[in-house]
Amino acid sequence: MTNVPPLGRWASRRLSRAVPIVRSITDAQERSASPYLLGACPVCGEATVFFAGPGPSQRESLLCASCVTTSRYRSIALGVLRCILELAGVDAPSIAQLPERARRSLTVLDTQVPFRYPPYAAYPIPEMLANRSWIDVCCSQYEPEVPWGADLGPGTTNQNLEQLTFADDSFDLVITGDVLEHVRLDDRALREIARILRPGGIFIFTVPHTRDQQDTIMKVLVHDPENPGADEIIGVPEYHRSPGAEEGGSVLSYRVYGTEIDDHLAALGFAVDYSCSPRPEHGVIDTELFYCRLGTVAR
Ligand SMILES: [Zn+2]
Repeated sequence: MTNVPPLGRWASRRLSRAVPIVRSITDAQERSASPYLLGACPVCGEATVFFAGPGPSQRESLLCASCVTTSRYRSIALGVLRCILELAGVDAPSIAQLPERARRSLTVLDTQVPFRYPPYAAYPIPEMLANRSWIDVCCSQYEPEVPWGADLGPGTTNQNLEQLTFADDSFDLVITGDVLEHVRLDDRALREIARILRPGGIFIFTVPHTRDQQDTIMKVLVHDPENPGADEIIGVPEYHRSPGAEEGGSVLSYRVYGTEIDDHLAALGFAVDYSCSPRPEHGVIDTELFYCRLGTVAR
């Protein structure tokens, strides 16, 4: 990210429309002379300021001053927009600017429910998509104490990625944002995602990973798929904060993927397009996107 001069009149005008709490953070950002970017947000569509909020990485802390999305959520948004262009022929610069009507309808499963925790982050994408009559959106949460498939609120059901309750060929797009590292049996999850996607459907995900080695770094060894009690944690257990969970909620991380995830997906019929290129004009820095298209050959 490039250091640029202090906020000019243009940016200040834009920020005057942002929520006060975001403005106060941006003022603090200005005082600390930290870097920021000017660009167009692919979620809210605003010409905006992307600034580094609290947090160790730009992936999770580079916030849009208008909608408080992180770099990772904007990376997902760019993938969603690409999917919508490829599958529905609709070319929009942001989720907010998607048209009211389209020739083709789309069905979407997002494993992250929408949330707003300003000033830390917000994830409005499923809600914004669902506002379009031609896009059906299902969200899911993981509540092990509740029956799988149970209704957890508007448009949201309880789902275990290892055994989804959806019928075959149910979705055009499946989104998992930093979820796969927490799935105990990820091979079953990836097979399930391939099953519920229609031929030619798209699977978009972000996940902690390395491109420096092929092998996945395991943090938990699963000795017996049917017996979680036999799992062996390697070293210090790593927990990640879950934005959908209650205050203080965190979930165990099982692995950091190596490049073998690409081969695994290819074996399931996906064409994998991996990208981690900076998109500063969209406030996407140090953030990956796995964009995976399921083949059209019958499974
Ligand atoms: Zn935004």
